[in-house]
Amino acid sequence: MIQGKSIKEWAQEYPLLTKIMDTKEVFWLNPDYREVKNNKVLELTMVDIKEADARLRRFAPYIKKVFPETKASHGIIESELVNIDGFKTELFDIFNMQIPGQLYIKRDDNLPIAGSIKARGGIYEVLKYAESLALENNLITKDDNYELFTNQEFKELFSHYSLAVGSTGNLGLSIGITGATLGFKTTVHMSSDARQWKKDLLRDKGVIVKEYDSDYSKAVQEGRKESQKDPKSYFIDDEKSKHLFLGYAVAALRLKEQFVKENIKIDQDHPLLVYLPCGVGGGPGGICFGLKKVFGENVHCFFAEPTHSPAMLIGMMTGLHNKITVQEFGIDNITAADGLAVGKPSKFVGKIMVNLLAGIYTVEDNILFTILKRLYHKNGIKLEPSALAGFPGPVRLTKNKSKLDFLDNNIEEKINNSIHLIWSTGGSMVPKHIFDEYLNK
Ligand SMILES: *Cc1c(COP(=O)(O)O)cnc(C)c1O
Repeated sequence: MIQGKSIKEWAQEYPLLTKIMDTKEVFWLNPDYREVKNNKVLELTMVDIKEADARLRRFAPYIKKVFPETKASHGIIESELVNIDGFKTELFDIFNMQIPGQLYIKRDDNLPIAGSIKARGGIYEVLKYAESLALENNLITKDDNYELFTNQEFKELFSHYSLAVGSTGNLGLSIGITGATLGFKTTVHMSSDARQWKKDLLRDKGVIVKEYDSDYSKAVQEGRKESQKDPKSYFIDDEKSKHLFLGYAVAALRLKEQFVKENIKIDQDHPLLVYLPCGVGGGPGGICFGLKKVFGENVHCFFAEPTHSPAMLIGMMTGLHNKITVQEFGIDNITAADGLAVGKPSKFVGKIMVNLLAGIYTVEDNILFTILKRLYHKNGIKLEPSALAGFPGPVRLTKNKSKLDFLDNNIEEKINNSIHLIWSTGGSMVPKHIFDEYLNK
């Protein structure tokens, strides 16, 4: 029994569940999807996103100083928007489908410092915490130049505090690297699927890595429990952190600027379709939230999950959110997409997404590897498996008219003017020998 019903009863109520439990690829359209203006669930607003953006700007001089790879962007951690229309022929080869509209990728795999989407939320929350401590201790005012954070007295202050986080790998990298640089004692609780090289890299930076012989949810739970025992320990909670979420949401403001710069129109006649790989939900959820605030009904967001880890899908479809795990439905949560290997979704994110997210589809691991190889050979782009889940999105969405109609009755007239944006979420830090292993799969 799961929440008072047998699996059979759940499957009767939600027929898609049978295919999901068989780990077949599915595409779920969210029946509660409505225009953003009708959404009342949100306590977070554009003001919150702008505040987060302003905070990141205050820290830019510090970031530039301690992470020289951000020099060119003046300490702003942002990724390129790249047209890859040329890759449509590869997708045609794989799926035998033409994609109408233009194809872009958002290169979060190239984000400085942490090499993944986690450089948005993770770094932001660490900076926010550091700022609050520095303000409380009168080491800084919001009008100062934040290069001051490199001073010894800041390091001395932060050395009395600890940061902790549970992670499948990349969030640990982002928080571990930033936390250690600022001078915090940092502990990362890693799930069993976390890659060895990520653990090694963190230990190298002086981060404490604790390993669990279990999945991500357990790593978070243990990390949270341990951190709560210590009043000077701050736990970054990927399952419910508003700050992480807002750090991700800032991407929408930046993207808007990039579209303007590239002369790309997003409006009623030029819809934006976004495909985001989803683990616990914070990253894709924050970005979707920001995009809906910025582009309103002209953007439609989709999450992509591995067929073996469809946590957000089951959580949102059944409305059970974090009351379920995929394991309870007989799904093993084992996938090569380690960043998406999450069996229990964030309720915080799922609830915000109820009216904002257009749908969720699942992808088989072997498709991720096929695209990984082609993208490398054709475009020289190296992504980790998790980062590729967005790529089948444009094909899967435009394949049937019914899915497009669900978004917008007139979309057929507009689909040739649409912008498909695939969020490529990680990969630049993957060591060469690991990437070669991926290629050989
Ligand atoms: C973490 C991660 C995601 C998904 O983010 P969540 O916040 O866990 O949903 C996607 N891609 C990569 C590479 C990641 O590391």
